[in-house]
Amino acid sequence: TRQNDEDAEPGRVRVAIRLRPKNTEEISDADFFDCVELQPELMKLKLKKNNWSSDSYRFDEVFTESASQKRVYEAVAKPVVEGVLNGYNGTIMAYGQTGTGKTYTLGKLGKDDASERGIMVRALEDIIASASSASDSVEMSYLQIYMESVQDLLAPEKVNIPIVDDPKNGEVSVPGAAVVKIQNLDHFLHLLQIGEANRHAANTRMNTESSRSHAILMVSVRRSSVVDKEESNNTSFQMKDDTIGGHVIPTVRKSKLLIVDLAGSERLDKSGSDGHLVEETKFINLSLSSLGKCINALAENSPHIPTRDSKLTRLLRDSFGGSARTSLIVAIGPSSRYHTETASTIMFGQRAM
Ligand code: ADP
Ligand code: MG
Repeated sequence: TRQNDEDAEPGRVRVAIRLRPKNTEEISDADFFDCVELQPELMKLKLKKNNWSSDSYRFDEVFTESASQKRVYEAVAKPVVEGVLNGYNGTIMAYGQTGTGKTYTLGKLGKDDASERGIMVRALEDIIASASSASDSVEMSYLQIYMESVQDLLAPEKVNIPIVDDPKNGEVSVPGAAVVKIQNLDHFLHLLQIGEANRHAANTRMNTESSRSHAILMVSVRRSSVVDKEESNNTSFQMKDDTIGGHVIPTVRKSKLLIVDLAGSERLDKSGSDGHLVEETKFINLSLSSLGKCINALAENSPHIPTRDSKLTRLLRDSFGGSARTSLIVAIGPSSRYHTETASTIMFGQRAM
């Protein structure tokens, strides 16, 4: 359990809203009406129905269209990453309609401009920098969940990979997935690109869009507890070195970070004639609504978090709630054309508050 922690609300999901800037279409649209008004210093968002009426909501963080990737990382992701470096599991997720900035926020590589780097790259930069001793290791798996099937983005021949719950320690794992030890940041960027290419190829083969599946980066961190000065000032964990025959055997801390780029939350028309799309939609609705129920249960401090209902929530089970830290980024666009979608996206985020 967490102690001496400034945001010591165990299990609560921190929710940030991020507004994407107008895109070129919206800029050139004569009928464009901006339905979102933000007051970041009050952590408030107003969603306008028209010029006269609006609804107001509060979040833990509110990012305007000019918020930098660095700021978003530091406010939303860094506390989770620090938890992971101290031995706690953590999850960072992005929820929202397709085209609102989930992948930009989480997965942007920023190869030409490092200031554009998203949360995955910044998180791994911090994690790699802190893996100090030779026995420390940082490993990753990169998965996609499509229609309740877990697929490996690093080994695309693997599909329908089982999620395993360890009855002894309560840990969730995906032993069938490829695990790659990350050598350095360039190696990580390379792996992300391979994953992205495989995702594109797999989705083309399955005749679907990447917005119709969840992408999950799973990073496992093992650190021996030989800590640096700065960290030993941090009283949030206790060192337990075992001494055998006069030699200090360092305690190994294991933790896991999940970064989840969720499927687009838009409600597609179920009355359409395309049976494949109807099936996809059912599965997306199932997993996002079961995620919503879990987030809701966490917010209500319920002793029972209903994680059994979907692959997504089964995978998240040991990485949110309890001692884990969780941040949810709710991505929205400014246009009144999508007022209904934006309103339902905001309501999803509000369920965690
Ligand atoms: P999603 O993953 O939610 O479907 P994307 O991340 O692909 O959406 O974003 C859609 C488009 O908007 C992309 O071209 C992306 O680069 C751009 N975009 C999103 N958020 C921002 C932002 N904060 N600043 C600049 N461009 C953005
Ligand atoms: Mg995307």
